[in-house]
Amino acid sequence: MSLDAKIPGGPLADKWDRHKFELKLVNPANKRKYNIIVVGTGLAGGSAAASLAELGYDVKSFCIQDTPRRAHSIAAQGGINASKNYQNDGDSTWRLFYDTVKGGDFRAREANVYRLAQVSGNIIDQCVAQGVPFAREYGGTLANRSFGGAQVSRTFYARGQTGQQLLLGAYSALSRQIAAGKVTMYPRREMLDLVVTGGKARGIVVRNLITGQIEKHAADAVVLCTGGYGNVFFLSTNAMASNVTAAFRAHKRGAFFANPCYTQIHPTCIPVHGTYQSKLTLMSESLRNDGRVWVPKETGDTRPPSQIPEAERSYYLEEKYPSFGNLVPRDVASRNAKEQCDAGRGVGETALAVYLDFADAIKRDGRDVIAKKYGNLFEMYEKIVADDPYETPMMIYPAVHYTMGGLWVDYNLMSNLDGLFVLGEANFSDHGANRLGASALMQGLADGYFVLPYTIGGYLAGVTPGEVGTNDAAFDTIATKAGDRIEKLLSIDGKRTVDDFHRQLGLIMWDYCGMARNNAGLEKAIGLIQELRGEFWQDVTVPGSAGDFNQSLERAGRVADFLEFGELMCKDALHRQESCGGHFNEEYQTEENEALRDDENFCYVAAWEHTGDESEPNLHKEPLVFENVKLTQRSYK
Ligand SMILES: Cc1cc2nc3c(=O)[nH]c(=O)nc-3n(C[C@H](O)[C@H](O)[C@H](O)COP(=O)(O)OP(=O)(O)OC[C@H]3O[C@@H](n4cnc5c(N)ncnc54)[C@H](O)[C@@H]3O)c2cc1C
Repeated sequence: MSLDAKIPGGPLADKWDRHKFELKLVNPANKRKYNIIVVGTGLAGGSAAASLAELGYDVKSFCIQDTPRRAHSIAAQGGINASKNYQNDGDSTWRLFYDTVKGGDFRAREANVYRLAQVSGNIIDQCVAQGVPFAREYGGTLANRSFGGAQVSRTFYARGQTGQQLLLGAYSALSRQIAAGKVTMYPRREMLDLVVTGGKARGIVVRNLITGQIEKHAADAVVLCTGGYGNVFFLSTNAMASNVTAAFRAHKRGAFFANPCYTQIHPTCIPVHGTYQSKLTLMSESLRNDGRVWVPKETGDTRPPSQIPEAERSYYLEEKYPSFGNLVPRDVASRNAKEQCDAGRGVGETALAVYLDFADAIKRDGRDVIAKKYGNLFEMYEKIVADDPYETPMMIYPAVHYTMGGLWVDYNLMSNLDGLFVLGEANFSDHGANRLGASALMQGLADGYFVLPYTIGGYLAGVTPGEVGTNDAAFDTIATKAGDRIEKLLSIDGKRTVDDFHRQLGLIMWDYCGMARNNAGLEKAIGLIQELRGEFWQDVTVPGSAGDFNQSLERAGRVADFLEFGELMCKDALHRQESCGGHFNEEYQTEENEALRDDENFCYVAAWEHTGDESEPNLHKEPLVFENVKLTQRSYK
C-alpha cells in the first residue's frame, strides 16, 4: 500500500488556501445530520470538539479525567508560538516555517509545517477573543519571549501557566456547545478500542471508569486527540494518565504508527532523586531566556556553586553555540548536558545535573522583574527541591517530555484508515525529529481550531450520515474482546504490581532507547521487553474487580499496551540507521558530536503497519520532499 499524503499542488504559500477551496463542503442544514466522536479534551480535542459543534455537527466528546479541564495540556508552562512579528525583530510566516523544519532536523513535511506557520497568528487572535490572559507589555500590547531554536521572540505566554489558560479558553468554547446541546460530554471514559467496519472507522468502545461498564459509541468519523506516549519511559514530565492505548489500539486495527522512536528529552527538568519517584517536573524552557547554563570546568568539583569562581565555570552552551547560546533547541541542549555529566562535570548529589543560574539576570534586571516573569516556576522549584533559585542556581537535567511520533496522518489529518482523524500530540505531523519549544500548543490548536474543521467536511461530504450504528456486529465483537482482556488481566493474580513492571520497562527504554541509542543496545532492549511482557502476563497482580472504579486495572491495560509499543519504538530506532533530532544513534555523529543524518537513505517518514501479534510490523515509507528548504547539517553556532 502506498501512502498518499494528499499534499496539494501549487506554490507552498498557496497550498492551504487552494486546498480549502477545493475541499468539498457539507451545507449547514446537512451538518447536523453528522455525528462525530472526539476522544480527548486537551488543547487539540477541546478546540476540535468546540469548533465542530460550532459548525453544526453533533459531537460526542470523551476523556479519562472527571472534567475536560484536567487534560494534560493544563500542565504546559512556557508559551505558544506565533509569527505575529509584534517585536518587529524579523519574524514572518517563512521564518517560523524554516525554524520549525530545521528544528525538526528536516524530518517533517514542508506543506504541513508551512500551514502551521500560516495559521499561527489566527490562534492568538482566537484565544485573545476568548479572554485568554496573555502577558502584556506596559502599553497593553501582547508580550513575547524567546524559545529554543529561534533568534526572534515569538512566544506568547501567560506567566508559567500558558497551557492552563489556553485550556480554559477552549473549555469555555466547549462548555458553550455542551450547554447548546451540540456536544455530549463523556468524562471518565477510557477508549479501549476503535471500531473499523467496511474499511472505515465507525466508532469506539470505551470503559466507564466509574461503573466499569463497557460502552459502544458509533459515529460518522472518529477524531483521536489522545496526547503523547512519553509515559512509556515511566518517569516523564507527562501527566500520570497520559498513555498510548487509544493510538495503539487504532494501530492494531490498521492505522499506521509513524516515527515512534522520535522522543523529546527536555533539557531543563528537576533531576531524578530516588528509585521510587513516579513523576518528573519540568522547569520551563522560558527560563533559558534569562538563566545561564554552566558546570564547573574541573571534573569531580564538589564545591557549592557560590564557591566556584567565574573563571572556573564552563558556560558550555554559550561557548559552543555563540549564535543561539542557551537557547539552542532541546535535543542539542539535552545532549550537551549529558555529555558534560558523562565527562564528570555534573553537579549535585548524583552528579547528574547542571546549573541554571539567574544571578546575572537578577543583577541586570532586578529580582522583581525576574519574579514577574518566572515567579511561579521559582516557587515550584523551591517547593520540590527546598532551595531558593533567587539565591542558588537551579539544578537541572534532561527528562522525557514529548513524543514527536504518532499515528500517521495525511495533509487532511486523516490516518490511512478512512474516517479516523488524529490531532495534536497523538499524530506524527509537523515537528519532524525534534519539536521546538512552544510549538506543541500551536500545533494542537491549529489542528483543532483551524485545520480539522475544514478537512473533515471534505471527508464527510462523501459519507452517508448514520450509515452504521452500534447494532453493527463489529461493535459486539470488539466490545467482547475488550471485556475478555480485562478479565484476563484480573485473573492472573501474580505477585508483581503494575507499577513494578512499568518502572522496569521505563528503565529499559531510558537506558537503550533514550537520549542516546546504539544498535547493540536496541537489540538487547527488544529482547528484554519481550521477556518482560511475557512475565507481565504471567505474574502481574491487579486487585479489585472489573465492575467498579479500579485504577490498578486502568493502569494495567495501559502498561500492557506500553509493553508492546516499547518494542515498536526500539524497532523503529534500530531500523533508522542515522541520527536526527531526538533520535541520536551514537554510531552516527559528526566530529563535534552532533546528530549526523543520512538524507540519501532515511529522508522519509517511517510508518509502521501492524501485521499481527506474532509477526513483524511492516514498514511503509513516505518520502519527504524538500522543494523550498535546502537540506543542510543543522548548525546553531
Ligand atoms: C510539563 C509540560 C509543560 C509543557 N509546556 C509546553 C509549553 O509551554 N508549550 C508548548 O507548546 N507545549 C508544552 N508542552 C507540551 C504540550 O503541553 C502537549 O504536547 C499538549 O498539551 C498536548 O495536547 P493534546 O491535546 O494533544 O493532548 P493532551 O493534553 O495530552 O490531552 C489528551 C486527552 O486525551 C484523553 N485521553 C487519552 N487517552 C484516552 C483514552 N484512551 N480514552 C479517552 N480519553 C483519552 C485525556 O483524557 C485528555 O483529555 C508541555 C508538556 C509538559 C509535559
